[in-house]
Amino acid sequence: MLEHLPRVKLAHTPTALEELPRLGELLGIDLYIKRDDSTGLAMGGNKARKLEYLLADALVKGADTLLTTGGPQSNHCRMTAAAAAKYGLECHLVFSGRPIDVRQGNLYLDELLGAKLHFVGVDDPVLVAAKMEELSSALHAQGRKTYTIPLGGSNPIGAVGYIRGIAEIITQGQEEGVTFDYIVHASGSAGTQAGLIAGIKAYGLVCRVIGISVSRAKERLAREIYELCVGTLARAAVAEQVTPEDIVVYDEYVGAGYGLSTPASSAALGTFAVLEGVILDPVYTAKAGAGLLDLVKQGFIPKGAKVLFWHTGGTPALFADPAIHWTSK
Ligand SMILES: *Cc1c(COP(=O)(O)O)cnc(C)c1O
Repeated sequence: MLEHLPRVKLAHTPTALEELPRLGELLGIDLYIKRDDSTGLAMGGNKARKLEYLLADALVKGADTLLTTGGPQSNHCRMTAAAAAKYGLECHLVFSGRPIDVRQGNLYLDELLGAKLHFVGVDDPVLVAAKMEELSSALHAQGRKTYTIPLGGSNPIGAVGYIRGIAEIITQGQEEGVTFDYIVHASGSAGTQAGLIAGIKAYGLVCRVIGISVSRAKERLAREIYELCVGTLARAAVAEQVTPEDIVVYDEYVGAGYGLSTPASSAALGTFAVLEGVILDPVYTAKAGAGLLDLVKQGFIPKGAKVLFWHTGGTPALFADPAIHWTSK
C-alpha cells in the first residue's frame, strides 16, 4: 500500500519478533518483543524506519544537506547523521540546551559520522526553531540545498515507516501463529505511535497501541498523535479513519522529565536484562518497560493478554554520563 511513496533502504528489516517467555510468565501475559533496537543503522533504533522515507523525499527534492534537531543524546540525530553519511549529504544537527564539550554516547557517534554540531544554548523550542531557520538561510546563501527534518522525524512522510512496521508483524505473527491485543512502546514526538495506529487502521487489525510518554503531557501528546495519524493515513492514501478514542497514552511514567530516569525505569532496565538478556535504553524504552510492568500490575492490561513490546532502540545513551548529557538547562 506504500508503493507510491519513495523509499531508500536504511534499516535491517524485518526486525526480529521474539518471545519473552520468562518475563511473560512473571507478568501472567503472552509477551513478545519487536526488535527495532536492531534496525542496523549506526546502532539501530526506530528512527531508521522513518528515515527511509524522509531521506528518499530529500533525494527526490535534490537536497545535498540535511538539518534536524533534538536533545544532545538524540537517537534521531545520530541516525540522521548516519543516513546523511551513507548518501554523501552534509548533516547539521541543532541541539537544545547548553553546549556540551564531552562527546559520549550519541554525541560521540554524531561527530564520528561527520555531522556538524550546533548548540542553541537553551532548551526552548521557539529558539531552537529560530536557530534552524537561521542555519538553513545561511546554508542556502552558500548555495546548499537544504532539507529540514522535524524533531524525531515525526511528520507524515516519516511516520508511514511504521505502517510498514505493522505489515511486518502481520507476516511474522502468521508464521508464529500469534496476533496481538496490545502493542506497548515509548512515545516521544508522536511519529511512531501515529504510524503504528495508521498501520493498524490500514490493515484492519484489532489491537490497542499503548504509548508510554517519555516527555510530553498526555493531552498534548494524544492530540499530536491524532493529527499526525490523520496526515499519515492521507499520505499513505488509506481511506480508513482514526478517531481520538484510538489514541491511548500514559504520561504517568515520565518522572522528573525527558531524559531523566526514574526508580521504576531503572528497575525495568534491570528486569529486562536479567530475565531476558534484553538491553533497554535508560530513558525511552526503560520508561516504556516500567509502564508495561505497572499497567499489567494495575490490571489495565489483563492477565493472559497477548502483548507486543516494541523496542524502539536508544542503546548508545547507555554509554553517556547522564549528569553531563541530560541536564541541558
Ligand atoms: C525517538 C525515540 C522514541 C520515540 O519515538 P517517537 O516517534 O518520537 O515517538 C522512542 N524510543 C527511542 C529509543 C527513541 O530514540
